Amino acid sequence: MPYVKPKKSLGQHFLKDKNIAQKIVESLRAEGMKKVLEIGPGMGVLTQFLLERKEFETYLIEIDRESVVYLEEAFPALGEKLIYQDFLKFDFPEYFTEPLGIIGNFPYNISSQIFFRIIENKNLVKEVVCMIQKEVAERISSGEGNKQYGILSVLLQAFYDIDYLFTVGEQVFSPPPKVKSAVIRLVRNQVKKLPCDEALFLRVVKTGFNQRRKTLRNSLRSIIDDPLFEPEILKKRPEQLSVAQFIYLTSAIENQLSA
Ligand code: SAH
Repeated sequence: MPYVKPKKSLGQHFLKDKNIAQKIVESLRAEGMKKVLEIGPGMGVLTQFLLERKEFETYLIEIDRESVVYLEEAFPALGEKLIYQDFLKFDFPEYFTEPLGIIGNFPYNISSQIFFRIIENKNLVKEVVCMIQKEVAERISSGEGNKQYGILSVLLQAFYDIDYLFTVGEQVFSPPPKVKSAVIRLVRNQVKKLPCDEALFLRVVKTGFNQRRKTLRNSLRSIIDDPLFEPEILKKRPEQLSVAQFIYLTSAIENQLSA
C-alpha cells in the first residue's frame, strides 16, 4: 500500500492509534440517521471502523488527491460515496437531504469554519463527533463566566447538547501536532427555531464578542444605539451571558427596533 505524505497546509496529522480510532467511531450514537459523512478521512483510520457499522451508510469527503487515490485503493466498494472536494465549498445540503451525522478528525486549521457550516445546516446535521484542538474543544463546551466562552460556544450550544468526551495526546499522531487534541460530541437538541430572529441573534453574538472587554452597551452600538433602550443586561460583558440571556437580549433588541 502506498503511503500519504503528510501535508501541513491541509492540517494532516494522521492518527496512528487504532484503539482511539475505534473509540471515536463508537462515540457516534447515529440515532435517527441513515447516513454519516466523514470529513477528512486521510488514510482511513476512522473509515475502517465506520464501515463496520451497518446501521448507516458512510460517505467520505476529502480535499487531498493523494489521500483520495489511497482510499480508492483501500476501500474500492465506496465508489461514489468517496467525494473528492473541499468540505467548505461542498454544497452538502444539496447532496444530503435527510438527517445526517458528521464525524472526523478535523483539519485543525479550519475547524471553526467547519462548525460555522454545521450551524448553517443545523436542521440537517443531527450529530457531530469530532477530534479537534483541545483548546477549541474546551471553548465550545464551556459555559458563561468562563474565559474560553465565545461565539462558537453560544451558537453551537443554542442548538446542540455538547459533551467533552476525552483528551488525546500529541504522540498518537504522525506527525505529532504541537497541541493536545480532544474528542467532543454534539447532539442536536429539541430547539427547532429560536424564539427570536436568528439572523439578528447571530449578529448580536458575533458583534458582542468582537470586543469582549467592552460592555454590550458599547459593543452593540452598531446594532442598537437608542437612549431609550437601556436594559440592565447591556451593562454586562458578552462572556457573562448565558445562551438564554443572549436570546432574551436579541428579542429585546428586536422589539425595540420594530417599536
Ligand atoms: N482522518 C484522518 C486524517 C486527519 S488529518 C486521521 O485521523 O488520520 C485531516 C484530514 O482532513 C486530512 O486528510 C486532510 O487532507 C483533510 N482536509 C483538510 N482540509 C479539508 C477540506 N477543506 N475538506 C475536506 N478534507 C480536508
